[in-house]
Amino acid sequence: MQVSFVDLRAQYARIKPEIDQAIARVIGSAQFVLGEETERFESDFARYCGAAHAVGVNSGTSALFLILKAAGIGPGDEVITQPNSFIASAAAISHTGATPVFVDSDPATHLMVVPKIESAITVRTKAIMPVHLYGQISPMEEIRSIAEKHGLFVLEDACQAHGAKHNGTRAGSFGNAAAFSFYPGKNLGAYGEAGAVVTSDRALAERVRRLRDHGSLEKYVHTEIGYNMRLEGMQAAVLNAKLGYLDEWNDARRAHATRYRELLGDIPGLTLPVAKPENEHVFHLFVVQTPERDALAAYLKERGISTSIHYPVPIHLQEAYRHCGLNVGSFPESESAAREILSLPMYPELSDGEITYVADAIKSFFSALPQ
Ligand SMILES: *Cc1c(COP(=O)(O)O)cnc(C)c1O
Repeated sequence: MQVSFVDLRAQYARIKPEIDQAIARVIGSAQFVLGEETERFESDFARYCGAAHAVGVNSGTSALFLILKAAGIGPGDEVITQPNSFIASAAAISHTGATPVFVDSDPATHLMVVPKIESAITVRTKAIMPVHLYGQISPMEEIRSIAEKHGLFVLEDACQAHGAKHNGTRAGSFGNAAAFSFYPGKNLGAYGEAGAVVTSDRALAERVRRLRDHGSLEKYVHTEIGYNMRLEGMQAAVLNAKLGYLDEWNDARRAHATRYRELLGDIPGLTLPVAKPENEHVFHLFVVQTPERDALAAYLKERGISTSIHYPVPIHLQEAYRHCGLNVGSFPESESAAREILSLPMYPELSDGEITYVADAIKSFFSALPQ
């Protein structure tokens, strides 16, 4: 048996007529950039997230960057984020000219540790960017109260958390703004690059709308120097066709996570993902942890099972961030997680037979280990 890590073709096979019609509609209308499909997606996605506004952009990285720019963050400023994330979280900060300041993550949830935020705040700190890693929302009440106390802007990196809930409220409405990615493999994925900024702050939404389109809200009237970071009509049409399925797909991911848990429940040496009771996790990734990670991944590969690591090198140890002067030992929890984490196959169309096959392989790996 072969088990893919993610299979986007399986999803397309299920919704082919809707996707094909959506793409044909855009070609027929010739609204290839922004246009009606984008407007429809913006209003539906804002409503879905429980926020007043959504602004479609060309990637999750652009969404993070434009939020920071619109909030006036730039050279000399510091933004607090976590080192155990995709590099885009930090890169978006660096591109504004500001400096990312990292805080370590919780060893169980891999989310930002709240008390460490407070000790990372300096006179230069302007914002906090928690990452809802793997599909679980960060402890937003505590983060918000620290932000209020110090007058800081909060942006959610919700690029892995479409539809995730915290105390019944969806990602995208906890901070001043949130960034979503619709990279093809995300829980809601386009057929190319795409992203969105979600916010209930009208002025911020308008500034992002202007910045994504060359500083312009009216053709050839440029009130500031902006960027070309617009959402394409084709991507918006694909997202419109898919949005109605998102909850069903997230439910399927949660059911798969429950099944993995039932099958892998009590293996010594294997730690399963921890979901806080107040959170409805959407399992963008199902990440297990073991000191035998590399051997386990190789064993699964031999049996036709694809896995991945999110992420093998924490951002502060990447060559791109060497100038920050951080070393091994700077963020011990993120570093030890990076050595032990393994993302198992996870996507809505995964079958029970495939999950059982993966779980059986994991069980036989651990039972063959010397005790
Ligand atoms: C995917 C992702 C991004 C970047 O999104 P792109 O659309 O690829 O630019 C940023 N942060 C996190 C946590 C992500 O998973």
